Amino acid sequence: VGRHVRSEPMLEITGVERRFSATHAVQGVSLTVWPGEVTCLLGPSGCGKSTTLRMIAGIEQLDAGEIRIDGRPVADARRNVPPEMRPVGMVFQDLALFPHMTVAANVGFGLSRARQGSGEVRHLLERVGLAHHADKYPHQLSGGEQQRIALVRALATQPRVMLLDEPFSSLDQRLRVEMRELALDLLREAGTAVVLVTHDSDEAMMMADRIAIMHGGRIRQEGTPLELYQQPVDLAVAGFFSELNVFDGSVAQDRIKTPIGDLAGTGMANGTAVQIAFRPEHLKVRRLAQAVVQGNSHPHVLRVQNLGRENFVEVKLPGQPDHLRCSAPGFTDLMPGDRVEIGFDPSTAMIFAH
Ligand code: ATP
Repeated sequence: VGRHVRSEPMLEITGVERRFSATHAVQGVSLTVWPGEVTCLLGPSGCGKSTTLRMIAGIEQLDAGEIRIDGRPVADARRNVPPEMRPVGMVFQDLALFPHMTVAANVGFGLSRARQGSGEVRHLLERVGLAHHADKYPHQLSGGEQQRIALVRALATQPRVMLLDEPFSSLDQRLRVEMRELALDLLREAGTAVVLVTHDSDEAMMMADRIAIMHGGRIRQEGTPLELYQQPVDLAVAGFFSELNVFDGSVAQDRIKTPIGDLAGTGMANGTAVQIAFRPEHLKVRRLAQAVVQGNSHPHVLRVQNLGRENFVEVKLPGQPDHLRCSAPGFTDLMPGDRVEIGFDPSTAMIFAH
């Protein structure tokens, strides 16, 4: 259960399919989004995210499956309610504000005469701190201001479903974080069901109540951000959220040996070939005291990257081709050449059978 009171689903997608000649772009995708919830479609380029979004918007035909909004069927293989007849708002990366219209006219565009005159536009502009720009034209605003206008323009028509396709990717880092927060506040207030397309896992973790990871036109895994981070179904899903340190191994007497320590109590059958993955943030690097260092049998530090917000230590394991990448909790005083030991909490090891 998400952060919201669940009533009826606002958006229900069931088994939708889309083919483009040889490309099976979307294959049996199903999703349910409740009012006030954000579901994020996350995945690499070409995995079918935008095609799925376009089918919800009504600008792409379905080959099979069904889409319902607020309980009403809007699309299946035979019928397609046109985009302008769907209670759907959209914000895409290219904002498509009308260049010849003022800010106020842009925001009021989809509204009836009565609502245009009601002060609603002004209220929306105040909500995003841009009321003083009402009479300007889009080209007189900064990128971040244009983005806010695009968002309130989409919200003005009070859509039941809001579709966001990489909406903040053209903004600089600081502005992007601000816009994510503002957008979340506005969308939650409005109780809109949101589908957000991104290939940025930070954006997904920050904004989503649920994340669906897509690959090759299918949903690989769907769940809360925490579920996907802690219990990914495969290496590809695991790798979306951070770099991974991966070892090959096999199960013997319920144990798996890795170059940094054994894992016990796996409950897996003897002889099962596995891959074991550790996230950098789950490996702890400790400098060994001079007195215990013997020969070249210990891991040693290759490189230190103190970035401030994130700090990494790269470690060479004796007899292993690949280097380990480990996070340090704060600025680390480890130096290249330091002999170290690697620790981990076994519950953070991710084990995938081949
Ligand atoms: P990106 O992140 O790059 O936008 P995406 O995950 O949104 O990628 P889609 O745009 O949905 O992916 O495309 C999925 C697949 O369908 C791709 O292989 C793409 O080339 C193909 N495709 C999309 N639209 C069409 C079209 N109109 N005609 C032919 N092929 C298409």
